[in-house]
Amino acid sequence: MVHLSAIPALNDNYIWILSDSNNKTVIIDPSEATPVILFLRENQYQPVAILLTHHHADHIGGVTDLLTAFPSIRIYGPKEVCQKLIGLPIQLITPDQIITELGLAFHIIATPGHTLGHVSYYSKPYLFCGDVLFSGGCGRIFEGTPKQMFNTLNHLADLDNKTLICCAHEYTLSNLKFAHQILPNDGPIMTRLAEVELLRKNQQMSLPTTLALEKKTNIFLRCHEQVLQRQFSVEDAQSLFMVLRALKDNF
Ligand SMILES: [Zn+2]
Repeated sequence: MVHLSAIPALNDNYIWILSDSNNKTVIIDPSEATPVILFLRENQYQPVAILLTHHHADHIGGVTDLLTAFPSIRIYGPKEVCQKLIGLPIQLITPDQIITELGLAFHIIATPGHTLGHVSYYSKPYLFCGDVLFSGGCGRIFEGTPKQMFNTLNHLADLDNKTLICCAHEYTLSNLKFAHQILPNDGPIMTRLAEVELLRKNQQMSLPTTLALEKKTNIFLRCHEQVLQRQFSVEDAQSLFMVLRALKDNF
């Protein structure tokens, strides 16, 4: 049995924490070290590994200090992370590889689009997907192409519907406001928007979300819907994805 927690960090990041019944703990994308160290101490958790999804500072910023505090911790990351954190003992992971921590198998999934070497870690039901799939939206395309991001989202959408999407930012409200503007009369989006407005008003997090819920309320996972395609005069899902992503960039 494992337990999932999230530590709020920086402006709107979450650092995900997975711990087992022996208090052994895995840390995902530590943007900063101090809140993690405090959280571990409070809960008497023993960190054993850090999983990194991509090279942005708000995902790897705490690694150096965590390594100083816990010198035997194992750190996993894709090539782009190794190239950023030069000199640190990072175990290079590649897509389709499986790593084992806390007795769980974590499948490494290539998820390019936000950055070229972005990976996600999947250990059923948990998906740690960094900045590619958000609740109600998807990441900005900084290095990849829209086609890569579109393929990444489709690939993730094939996972089990009960998958818990553990993304790295609290962007849900803004994403749903955008979706509501595009589809003002859509029931599932309106319901989810009202729920998340209430959660955020009470300073509660909107995550993790489930893949099933995202398939209903995340317009970037609904690009195959012909009504939506007709609304933007496009004839295929990928073209619609590109239109929506460009609109969201300026929302
Ligand atoms: Zn990022």
